[in-house]
Amino acid sequence: MAMIGGHGTVDGAILLDKDGTLVDDEPFNVEPSRIRLAPGAEQALSEFASLRWPVAVVSNQPGVAFGYFDEASLHAVRVHLARVMARFGVDFAGFFYCAHHPQGRDAAYRMTCACRKPAPGLLQAAARHIGVPLSSCWMIGDILDDVEAGNVAGCHTILVDCGNETVWQRGAHRTPDHTVASIDAAARIIAAHATDVALANAGRPS
Ligand SMILES: [Mg+2]
Ligand SMILES: [Zn+2]
Repeated sequence: MAMIGGHGTVDGAILLDKDGTLVDDEPFNVEPSRIRLAPGAEQALSEFASLRWPVAVVSNQPGVAFGYFDEASLHAVRVHLARVMARFGVDFAGFFYCAHHPQGRDAAYRMTCACRKPAPGLLQAAARHIGVPLSSCWMIGDILDDVEAGNVAGCHTILVDCGNETVWQRGAHRTPDHTVASIDAAARIIAAHATDVALANAGRPS
């Protein structure tokens, strides 16, 4: 429970993968004019706005380590994401990215880090920033690395199976709590869960 952006206590938060989940997967694109919302994303963002839950974007951006673009370019992406979120009335909690890669060309970013998904570092940082327990967070992503990061962090997990996961490497933490075809369906699951929790809390003696 925490005070967020004047909304008061928050009961949960959304941790959202960017590429292929929130926006169409355009490999290594950092040009804001070429960022397009994924199918269902407008409905999902409206749903998140009604929920009044903070939404953080958690994204692997190894293009920095590969030398395709620099972190300043990601700042422009963050500004664009903030504008999109504002358009839908979403409480945008930040753009958390991993710029590393074990095979990066730039030595400064070449490492095995704790933030590149499937590691949970970005999710932990986002939840800490928001001030919400990870067990109240929902991780939504389009590949099983997102699911693993979410499960290891202790979040609820939803896989948007829109065809971007092609390897299907299974493992202890790689089974999502829910699987849907597009992000709007994920938002509806979270909204239904939030309603259940609110009703349960209302019926409980305080
Ligand atoms: Mg993705
Ligand atoms: Zn990293």
